[in-house]
Amino acid sequence: MREVVLKFFKGKRGNVISRLSSGKIALVNKNSEIQPKVGEKWVCKINFEKERFAVITPIEKIVKVTVTVKKFEQYKCGCKKQYDVKQETIEVKESELSEIQKQKEREEITFTWNYYCDNCCKKIRYSCGHEIKITSEKGGTKVVDVPCSDCITQEYLKSVEQRTKELRAKENSLEQEIRKIMSEIESLRKQCVIEIPMVIKKPVPGSCIVGYEKIWLKPKCPYCNREINWGEVDNRGIIKCQCGAKYEYRYKSEWTEDAFNPGRHYEYRWLIDLKKEQEVKKQVEPLGQRLIELSEELEKVRKEIKETKKAIAQEIAKKYGIKIEKIETISEDKEQGRYRVHYNDRVTEILMDDGMPIIESDIPEEHKAVLSALFPYFT
Ligand SMILES: [Zn+2]
Ligand SMILES: [Zn+2]
Ligand SMILES: [Zn+2]
Repeated sequence: MREVVLKFFKGKRGNVISRLSSGKIALVNKNSEIQPKVGEKWVCKINFEKERFAVITPIEKIVKVTVTVKKFEQYKCGCKKQYDVKQETIEVKESELSEIQKQKEREEITFTWNYYCDNCCKKIRYSCGHEIKITSEKGGTKVVDVPCSDCITQEYLKSVEQRTKELRAKENSLEQEIRKIMSEIESLRKQCVIEIPMVIKKPVPGSCIVGYEKIWLKPKCPYCNREINWGEVDNRGIIKCQCGAKYEYRYKSEWTEDAFNPGRHYEYRWLIDLKKEQEVKKQVEPLGQRLIELSEELEKVRKEIKETKKAIAQEIAKKYGIKIEKIETISEDKEQGRYRVHYNDRVTEILMDDGMPIIESDIPEEHKAVLSALFPYFT
């Protein structure tokens, strides 16, 4: 015998009927003592089904009840923490109503964490005195004689500070020298530039020109004081002055736009004094050469610093029984890769993502801290 929950409504002939999920009309058994009212929901027994209709007998009424539902999250230790409370209307069988009403407040555990709560978690005290809170074991403070991650980080940074002191000083002075030479080159180059002056004309009331108009003027030749007539050449075209001086016309146009500013158009026009450029070139060339040498030297120093840091990390790791080897590079720019780590007697694989190690293994929490501290320096 099948039982279904049906909601009743008024049929075309005025009788109270319902509909099965199959679409068949559900007629109330004539012998039924219960006659449902419109809008009510009942648990019903299906007496029999014909092709187009079924005859049912209502057994038990479904009622609505409002209960207070307290939502909890549960931790591995069994402790619960309430994070929400809600009024919820639920539908129950009439016979269950009194039971539900007795406990007007319902508790619901919506999710469970795979770690212990703040009260139940374990604290680790290292022999150095530092303490860390871990969550994988229950209760109390455990004193361990393994290196503490804070101390390891300090040890690493101190060694780096000491052993890269000279290299970093060298890096600094190289950077300074490079900046100096670059500004020298820049100011030499500027000597060959003759800017084309510009004035902005306000719109004349009543004229057909809308908005401001830019008017580019003619600069004067520094050798003979005649106006340089640049208007007839294309970009990078050569203009000859009557005095024999030669100029190259340059034009640059830029359109900038970003999320915060509307589009903006920039225009630049200038002339290069070709005679001056020849003179300046002689001075720029050796400076450019020096710049290349310095940049190469700087790169070498920076590489050396990086390698020293890595070597220090390896040394410290070795001291504490850690060996790290790279197995696979997943993405160079995202700093993603897989590593095999030998930690004392254990071997584990670690995934490095965005420069941060993801250590998922049965390594004890206190040892994980050590790995996390040292790991970023290996890459
Ligand atoms: Zn707990
Ligand atoms: Zn420590
Ligand atoms: Zn001239």
